[in-house]
Amino acid sequence: MKIENDFNDIDALGEDHLSSSSETPLRADAFELSSSEKINIIKDDVKHILETLGLDLTDDSLKGTPNRVAKMFVNEIFSGLDPDKKPSASTFDNKYKYGEMLVEKNITVYSTCEHHLLPIVGRAHIAYISNGTVVGLSKMNRIVDYYSKRPQVQERLTIQIVKELQKVLNTDDVACVIDAKHLCVNSRGIRDIESSTVTSEFGGKFKESDTRRELLEYIKLETQF
Ligand SMILES: [Zn+2]
Repeated sequence: MKIENDFNDIDALGEDHLSSSSETPLRADAFELSSSEKINIIKDDVKHILETLGLDLTDDSLKGTPNRVAKMFVNEIFSGLDPDKKPSASTFDNKYKYGEMLVEKNITVYSTCEHHLLPIVGRAHIAYISNGTVVGLSKMNRIVDYYSKRPQVQERLTIQIVKELQKVLNTDDVACVIDAKHLCVNSRGIRDIESSTVTSEFGGKFKESDTRRELLEYIKLETQF
């Protein structure tokens, strides 16, 4: 049956963690509701899930969970869906004329797999070669954090970070490598505790093998958290 096939295909796509596009698939009406309206609706949805599982929500320990989870979704772990939360684009002139590669290593990534809504935890390494504009180092952390706070696919997160920095720095010469563990792989399904996933996006000069090799030497990948 066609419908069942489509459903199975979609399920398989999620289980394999494939993404359909580099843009987060947001609906046009994504921001018509205010944050507090969203929290109110999600609170009831979480309550419904827990009740359906048979839990007694009058128990003191569970009473506050629906509201707590709803607030966490909207204000914290999915707050990067909101374009208003995007870090401001303050840049500086490169007054030291530093024309070499700048690498910001081991930026903590806390994201959420959009196929299972379980955590993705790891490190991002970002590099760029300035063409006259530089950003503050903490800015790179904030960009990683912003795009991480969405239901994500690791490949898409990597590309979104690179695209944003290319725009901010006005250069194609930006790269990002992410090494992360997906709890949906580590704690359920195949239950592979040791595995981690590495994704990379190399723009501009980082497509050249010498530049790329130099970056990878700086990084010397090692997942730790
Ligand atoms: Zn997953």
